[in-house]
This record gives sequence, structure tokens and C-alpha cells, in this order.
Amino acid sequence: MSKRLRVAVVGAGAAGLCAARHVLALQHAFDPPVVYELTAQVGGTWVYEERVGCYDNGHPIHSSMYRNLRTNLPKEVMMFPDFPFDPLLPSFLPHQEVLRYLQSYSQHYGVTPHIRFETAVEEVKPVTMETGEGKVTWEVTSSGGRYGRRTETFDAVFICTGHYSDPYLPSIPGLEHFKDATHSIPVSGAVSLLEMALIGYHGRAVCKTALKETSAAAVVILSHGKPPLAFPLPPQVRQAPPVRQVLKDGGVEFGDGSVTHPQVLLLCTGYSFSYPFLSGASLGLQVEPHLVSPLYKQLLPPAWPSLFIIGICKIICPFPHFHTQVQFALAVLEGTVLLPSCAEMEAEVRREADRKLMEGVQPRHLLKMDSDQWGYYRTLARMGGFSPLPPVIQSLYEEVWRQRRRDPQKYRQINYRLVTDTQWEILELQPDR
Ligand code: FAD
Repeated sequence: MSKRLRVAVVGAGAAGLCAARHVLALQHAFDPPVVYELTAQVGGTWVYEERVGCYDNGHPIHSSMYRNLRTNLPKEVMMFPDFPFDPLLPSFLPHQEVLRYLQSYSQHYGVTPHIRFETAVEEVKPVTMETGEGKVTWEVTSSGGRYGRRTETFDAVFICTGHYSDPYLPSIPGLEHFKDATHSIPVSGAVSLLEMALIGYHGRAVCKTALKETSAAAVVILSHGKPPLAFPLPPQVRQAPPVRQVLKDGGVEFGDGSVTHPQVLLLCTGYSFSYPFLSGASLGLQVEPHLVSPLYKQLLPPAWPSLFIIGICKIICPFPHFHTQVQFALAVLEGTVLLPSCAEMEAEVRREADRKLMEGVQPRHLLKMDSDQWGYYRTLARMGGFSPLPPVIQSLYEEVWRQRRRDPQKYRQINYRLVTDTQWEILELQPDR
């Protein structure tokens, strides 16, 4: 390769740090990356914020972390495969430990000096150069930080801005009548409540936190459209069908006609994909609340194969997923992966979506991977010519899901240890906290 490529990374959460770490490892092919980060520190989701609303610079608070959250994956599965967590830590960690881990990762791989903190990316747009090869460069416009507003050009852009910060608000008739309806982000502020209604199946995760935050006498109503949760819930939790409407006096009416007057209405309805700095339409991308399409290998718009959206999929093993996608993207840029034509990539995306729709997957769930993720990682590694994830990650991940389904209250009491690339063992049980 004649000239080293310039790469921009938007976001210094786990995905952005991973992208920058791998760019730095390929000095023969890439200049050191420029990493843009909206906030004053690395970690993204794992930076817990007590405040709700906006940062001092007016940007909305990014993280939706809860005050008492412990990880739902053990550290042995959650880690980047090339950077283990501290072996003395238990398997399931409080969020503070994950933040410390990401800070160490950033320091260890020399990423931190390349991050422009408190710098918001406002626009990412392609510019086609008149070189005869139709070569694309990208203009990235940012504001804030040391340099103020400026536009720089790059050969490739990695979008690593996560997808748990733009609340998805369902259309519930009369919702405006409930003054303090709020999305799940500020749950940590809810104290001393008598009654709280949680809307959405995802509310089951928030439920435990809500119970810790409310007074012992509080009633928590968990309203969702799925079959009733089978495992035992604390006595003050009641399940209800989906909300039909909010009445003029603020009463909440459920699908079975029952009405209640909670103090807090918490919408645990998930998040929307949102890339305000990208013009999806001009890139041939459809950006909807629950779907971004077409993305070849869930990663790049076929018409613009030097733009990569890292970590857009759901029900995945996030850090190993980023680790794999980033290496594949860099192999594309280096020319190790020869991409099919734009039309062929679009056809593959359509075929894949049709297959899932035929299997009964709803369009809003097309980016959920679940058990498909393992074959996907193997394919990317084979095409990109890099080491696949060790099989022990899949086997332990599946074991943890089994335990979680069996007893969602207790699965975090187990401590694991990786023995080899294919084998794990249980170390001990620890008391639940
Ligand atoms: P983020 O962590 O969201 O980072 C994105 C970064 O981009 C942020 O730093 C943000 O400030 C920056 N940014 C955004 N917009 C701009 C802009 N315009 N300009 C510049 N910078 C910008 N995963 C697990 O593996 N285990 C768990 O137990 C687990 N628990 C979770 C619990 C919660 C409540 C949530 C929300 C997620 C959880 N996850 C968990 C998934 C988690 O999202 C991933 O682990 C991972 O942290 C996502 O990293 P990311 O880099 O993609 O996004």
C-alpha cells in the first residue's frame, strides 16, 4: 500500500477504543486515528451519570447506566479476547469495574493520547475525489474541545456511538396527561415512591433496580405484552397487560380495563438508532428506530464501503463482537477482504433479511443476532484472515444464558474461570449482593 490511510473514530466507548487500538496496531497501513469523544472521559455507557438531562455543554447525557447495575455477562465472556479483566475480581461486576477496565485498555494500547475529549461530531459526509478511481474521502466536522469547530478529511470513518442513549417513546394515547412520564434512564432518581408503573418487557431488568430505589411499601406494576414472567417476583410487584391509554386525570388504564394512579410512569421501552451527524438518505441508508439497512455484514453501507458502524447488533457478546467487526473492517481497508460489488452486497442483505422474515422474525428485530452471532464471527475471521474467537466464549455464554433462564435472580452468584480455549469451570458460588 502506497499511502497510509487516515481513520476517524467517532466515540470512545468500548467500540471506539477497540477500533482505535487495532488501527494503532497496523502502523504500516494506517496513520494514528483521530478519536472524537463527546464527553470528558472514555467508557461511554459505563460512565454512570447521576445527573439527568444535559451535560454542561448542552449535549444530552449519553449513558443510560443504572446506579446499582451489575453486568449480565461474566467478565470471562465480556472481555476483549486480548485483554483479560483482573483475575481477582468476581465474574459479574459492578459497572465501576467495567469502566476501570476500559480506562486500562485505553491506556495499555496507547489510545488515550489520540482522543479529542469534549468534541462532538456534527457531520460525517462523503466527498468523491476526481481521481478516476472514484475514491471516496470523508469530511468530519466537529465542535468543542481544544480546536473548536473544524472540518477534517479521512479515508475511512468508524461510527462507534452506541445505541442506548436515544429513548424510544411508544405512542400511548393520552400519554401527555401523565406529567412525569419518564424513560428508564433516570430511574436512579426515583426514591420514596408509593406506586410506580413500568411499561415494556425490558422493565423486568429495571424492576430490580426500581425496587431498590423505592420505599419498601412501594407497589411496582410491570406492564408488558409478553407471557407472564415465570420466575417468582418480589411480593410488591404485580404484572399487568400493556397500557391502553392514560386518562385525563393521569390514571393509567391497562388492556384488561384496570386503572391505577402511579406516581411514576417509567417507559422501559428501549432505545432508537440515531445518527444525527449522518445523512442516511444520501448514503442509501434507511435509519429507523429499530433498524438500519442495508448494512453488509451488519457493518457497512454497500454503496460506501469505507464507513463502518460498529456494534449495531443486539443480543450479542458486545466486546468480542466489536473486536471481530473492527478487525474485519480494517481487513477491508487493507484490501485483504475483497468485497463483492455494491449490487451483490445489497442482494445478500436482502436475502438474509428475507430468510429471517420467513422464519417469523419481526422487521424491528432483524438486527438481533443471538445464536447467529457465532457463525457470523467465524465468517468474518475467515474472510479477514485473522484469528477467530476462542470457542470457550460461545460455550460459556450459552451456559450463562441457561443459568439466567433457570434463575434470573441467582445466576450472578456463580464465578467462572477459563481453563483453556475450549474449556471453562465453575470456581465457586458467592452470596448475592
Ligand atoms: P457507548 O458505550 O454508548 O459509547 C459511545 C460513545 O460515543 C460515548 O462515549 C459517547 O459519548 C460518544 N458519542 C456519541 N455521540 C457522539 C458524537 N456525536 N461525537 C462524539 N462522540 C459521540 N454489555 C455487556 O457486555 N455486559 C453487560 O453487562 C452490559 N450491560 C449493559 C447495561 C446497560 C444499562 C446498557 C445500556 C448496556 C449494557 N451493555 C452490556 C451493552 C453496552 O452497550 C456495551 O457493552 C458497550 O459498552 C457499548 O459500547 P459502544 O462503544 O458501542 O457505545
